Amino acid sequence: MNLAAIRQALHQIPEVGFQEFKTQQYVLARIEDMKTPYIDVTTWRTGIIVHVHGHAPTKTIGWRADMDGLPITEQTGADFASTHDGFMHACGHDCHMTVALGLLAHLANEQPTNNIVIYFQPAEENPGGAEPMLAWLKETRRDLLPDAIFALHVAPQYPVGTIATKSGLLFANTSELYIDVTSVSGHAAFPHETKDASVIAATLLLQLQTIVARNVNPLDSAVVTIGKMTSGTVQNVISGAARLEGTIRTTTPEAMIHVKRRIEAICDGIATSFECDVAVDYGSSYYEVNNTPMYAEAVLQFAEQYPQTTAYKCPAAMTGEDFGYFLKEIPGALFWTGANTAYGLHHEKMLPDEALLQVNADFVHAFLTSL
Ligand SMILES: [Zn+2]
Ligand SMILES: [Zn+2]
Repeated sequence: MNLAAIRQALHQIPEVGFQEFKTQQYVLARIEDMKTPYIDVTTWRTGIIVHVHGHAPTKTIGWRADMDGLPITEQTGADFASTHDGFMHACGHDCHMTVALGLLAHLANEQPTNNIVIYFQPAEENPGGAEPMLAWLKETRRDLLPDAIFALHVAPQYPVGTIATKSGLLFANTSELYIDVTSVSGHAAFPHETKDASVIAATLLLQLQTIVARNVNPLDSAVVTIGKMTSGTVQNVISGAARLEGTIRTTTPEAMIHVKRRIEAICDGIATSFECDVAVDYGSSYYEVNNTPMYAEAVLQFAEQYPQTTAYKCPAAMTGEDFGYFLKEIPGALFWTGANTAYGLHHEKMLPDEALLQVNADFVHAFLTSL
């Protein structure tokens, strides 16, 4: 199986969350090429679930690959660059799917002892596919739920073959944050007849900074970032509407609840003091990726002795991943895998090294069948 060709084909057709129609068709066609009597395929929305029945199963091991691209215009200059204008596989999910297909190729070649279920999961970036996929499995297809589950994510900064993870918290709890201020606009020369949304938004922005500084235990970590602030229409009109867009990151689910409560209290206070409306919307929220210590250690130990990989015990990061919803209910682990590219995730020039595809397909197959 030519994994580089598969990855290049997927790279050309990036689609955003729950729009992965061409991607789903392409992956289904590749699965069809490999089908054997012990492989069952189910679809859920734009996702795919492949059940590989073991010949003497005592457990079911899960492997998850995310499928979506991002609304980013590709600048890699690659000859297999995106053909979907304004969209790009800038988070390496094309590589994740390819590794999963490489894993399936091994399993189709030789029936495993235990059951292995591969989840091609849509909408990791937005609005989040793991939580609804898991809810659907629990309601209607409990036979497809695993006893343990694993996943990888490409890591631009590491050389190919590096397998990096840690026990416990690996990625943060995250939430989007959107705050809309609605007030009274008017002539720039008659401020007394208005409620200036720009001044209100600026005050709100500064007050939000006090949450991490003064409301979060200094021994925990949290981030409240406002990445975008917009207000008003033209220089000589006092603004009647402003919007703050940001993100919240915390290292515990409890801190996330606490930070959200403080944001709402500050917004209520601002609304009262400035006589305006302030509406808070959290968009999509992701639960922390908290690796089961036994399984994170198993990944590292396996990588240590496997010929093509090097194990690295890495620190936690404030990034988010909706695989956290799987780990909330099922033991398992997520690990970074080296992709050797100069640009970070979500960068328009991020292009993982194709050498990672076969190395990881082989490693994942060897690891999952060792459990
Ligand atoms: Zn991403
Ligand atoms: Zn990603």
